[in-house]
Amino acid sequence: MSAPVEVTEAVLRARPLPRHEEGEDKDSRGRALVIAGSREVPGGALLAALGTLRAGAGKVRIATCRSVAVPLALAMPEARVIGLAETAAGGIAPAEAAGLAARAEEADAVLVGPGMTDADAAEALAGALLARAAGAGVPFVLDAVALRALRPGATPPGLRGRLVITPHAGEMATLLGIPRDAVLADRLGAARRAAAALRAVVVMKGGGSFVATPEGESFHIARGNVGLATSGSGDTLAGILAGLLARGAAPLDAALWAVFLHGVAGERLAMRQGPVGFLARDLPAEVPGLLARIA
Ligand code: AMP
Ligand code: MG
Repeated sequence: MSAPVEVTEAVLRARPLPRHEEGEDKDSRGRALVIAGSREVPGGALLAALGTLRAGAGKVRIATCRSVAVPLALAMPEARVIGLAETAAGGIAPAEAAGLAARAEEADAVLVGPGMTDADAAEALAGALLARAAGAGVPFVLDAVALRALRPGATPPGLRGRLVITPHAGEMATLLGIPRDAVLADRLGAARRAAAALRAVVVMKGGGSFVATPEGESFHIARGNVGLATSGSGDTLAGILAGLLARGAAPLDAALWAVFLHGVAGERLAMRQGPVGFLARDLPAEVPGLLARIA
C-alpha cells in the first residue's frame, strides 16, 4: 500500500471549505446537532458544541440528559439545549432515539458521543438512531462510547459516504476486537482496516493522527503536541469536525481540516501558555483565526 499523504496547508487549500455569502442566514451556514453529555460529564457536550460554532457553523442544538440541560444552556447561551429522559446511571435513555432521529433530519450534521458515560445506553441509543436516521442523508460523526454501536461489515447502507468516526487507540481496539497494543503497533493499518470494514472515514487519533477512507486513501497529520493529551481535547475535535460538516464540507475534507486545525490550535496555546496545562475549552477559540489564515 502507498504511504499516506502528509497533510499540509497546501494540501488543505486544494480541498477548500465551503464559502458563505454575505447575505446568508444562520440556517444556511449549517445546523449541527450534538447528542452528548451525561450527568457526570455534561462538559463533553459543551466542548463539542463550542467546536461546532467556532468552526463556523450557524446553529447548534445540544441534546443531553434532562438533569444537566438547564446548567448547560446557561453555560452556553449560543446553544439550544434539549433535555431528554435519562437512565439511572445518568445517560440519555435509548428510548429517545425516535425523537432524535426526527431532529437529525432537521440538521446538516449530527455528532454523537462526547461525554457520554453510560456506555450501554449510549450504544443502544446510537444504534437505534443510526438505524432510523441512516436514510436521512445527514452526515454523522461518532465518537467515544457511541462507537460501540458500529459493527464491522454492518454499517447501514444509507450512511455510506456520510459517516466519520474519531477513535483513540483504546476505542479502535474495541471496534476491531484486537488488543490496544496491536492498534498502537500499526495505527495506520488499524485506520485502513476500520475504514474498509465500516465504510467510514476514520480519524485514528494520537500523537500524529491518521485519516483513512473506504476507497483506500490515507493521510497523516503531524500537527499538535502532547499538551493535546488532556481531558476534553477529543470532544473539541469531534465538535470542530461536525461544524465543518454542517457547513457543507465533504466528510474527508472535514476530517482533514478538523484534525489539522485542532493540532495547530494546540501548538498556538502551547506557545502562549506552555507545552502542557492549556485547557480543551481554550482550543475552539483558536479556530476562527486559523481558518481566516489558512482557508
Ligand atoms: P481524546 O483521547 O478523545 O480526548 O482525544 C485526544 C485528542 O488529542 C486527539 O485529537 C488526539 O489526536 C490528540 N492527541 C493526544 N495525544 C497527542 C499527542 N501526544 N500529540 C498530538 N496530539 C495528541
Ligand atoms: Mg475522547
